[in-house]
Amino acid sequence: MYLLETDVRDIPIAGIQGMTTIDYPGHVSAVFFTAGCPWHCRYCHNGRLKNCSPEDIIPHEDIMSFLTSRSGYLDSIVISGGEPSLHKTLPGLLAMIRTFGYKTALHTNGMNPDMIRKIITHGLVDYIALDIKGPPRAYGRITQNTDACKAVSHSIKHILSSGIDYEFRTTYHPLVLSEADLERTIVILAGLGCRKYFIQRFSKDGVVDEELTGWDVTEIPRDIVRLGEKLIPEFGIR
Ligand code: SF4
Repeated sequence: MYLLETDVRDIPIAGIQGMTTIDYPGHVSAVFFTAGCPWHCRYCHNGRLKNCSPEDIIPHEDIMSFLTSRSGYLDSIVISGGEPSLHKTLPGLLAMIRTFGYKTALHTNGMNPDMIRKIITHGLVDYIALDIKGPPRAYGRITQNTDACKAVSHSIKHILSSGIDYEFRTTYHPLVLSEADLERTIVILAGLGCRKYFIQRFSKDGVVDEELTGWDVTEIPRDIVRLGEKLIPEFGIR
């Protein structure tokens, strides 16, 4: 249906990672990176994707050629960003990928709950990885967007009520998120019934904020780890 309603050529894919086993756990995947994101997280490592020019966009024919050549070798295609849910042709892209026999996964910041509900309802996505930036009190500061928390809370509800396979994850850097905020995030998610949650160590790759990259964030506080292990059935550190 979506193949008829939308033109999947319109979705700007600005990068492809040919193979990964991390981005959709248990699956061998490729990742398509879409251009653009309106939020401004300090630890963003996707600055290139946020500021793409037309010549950075991969031609549709190359996308089709990639999908054809990997059919039978890859389990799934992960759509990441930037922020894929920005693009109204995302359902069409997912539907088109499925015609090749791949499973599909989405990485999202949760800013477009209507899109998330739509692709779940129409059975276009098998796995959703949702970034949780922190507790409600920190969202506007971290994303520099005052509406972010409300949108993400709706996305969380859609995902948890749908029965779809998912993960929630939070990037930790002490200059962005305090231990108290990280603790609060875990408690809130556990209260909502979250069953799979990861804390991601801050990675310097691609980050332009020199105040953040001046830190080595290798350790997650032990009390936080203990709390996650106690409250969330599937909890881990990446
Ligand atoms: S939501 Fe993701 S892509 Fe957008 S600015 Fe934040 S880290 Fe970067």
